[in-house]
Amino acid sequence: MKRVGVLALQGAVREHLQSIAACGAEAVPVKWPKDLERLDALILPGGESTAMRRLIDHYGLMDPLREFAKTGKPMFGTCAGLILLAKTVVGSNEAHLGVMDVAVERNSFGRQVDSFEAPLEIKGIDGAFEAIFIRAPHIVSVGLSTEVLCVHNGKIVMAKSGQFLGCSFHPELTEDHRITEYFLSMIPHKSDLLLPNRSIYSKV
Ligand code: GLN
Repeated sequence: MKRVGVLALQGAVREHLQSIAACGAEAVPVKWPKDLERLDALILPGGESTAMRRLIDHYGLMDPLREFAKTGKPMFGTCAGLILLAKTVVGSNEAHLGVMDVAVERNSFGRQVDSFEAPLEIKGIDGAFEAIFIRAPHIVSVGLSTEVLCVHNGKIVMAKSGQFLGCSFHPELTEDHRITEYFLSMIPHKSDLLLPNRSIYSKV
């Protein structure tokens, strides 16, 4: 069974845990560095990125999270979680984890519309996805290796960059688990990991 962690410091933790379980994977709350052991993937939830950052520092999680990113295992940031993953946060001279090749701007849909719902067309997901945005960031620019998966009102709201998936909205606040399933499908099958590296063999 796939084991998927959710950073459990602040924000929409329980909803992500429920969505992972609904997709048939084991859901693991992550509060301490040791909780990252034996995970296949990790979700950073929505909430408040500055509060979450303070707690990451408090629990000594920054280096372990960066080490986790180096293993190449999939990581998914939703809303504030996307801000934590981004290499650049507009208006701030310091990134948080700084691992996903995107630049994000916080609270970028205007204070008048703190939260709204919108049906989205997302690459790789069949049919519209009814998305909930809450004081959402958007992606202002992406690196060359980043694939844009969804644009809403001219703003990038979902992207994938290698092992990293990020979205501006809150898929976990709906009963629609297709985005969690999409993320789980980024976890390599154990059997693939045991096979000899085909690219090495093809060169022989
Ligand atoms: N505005 C929040 C932040 O900057 C993100 C909002 C959310 O996660 N719903 O962290």
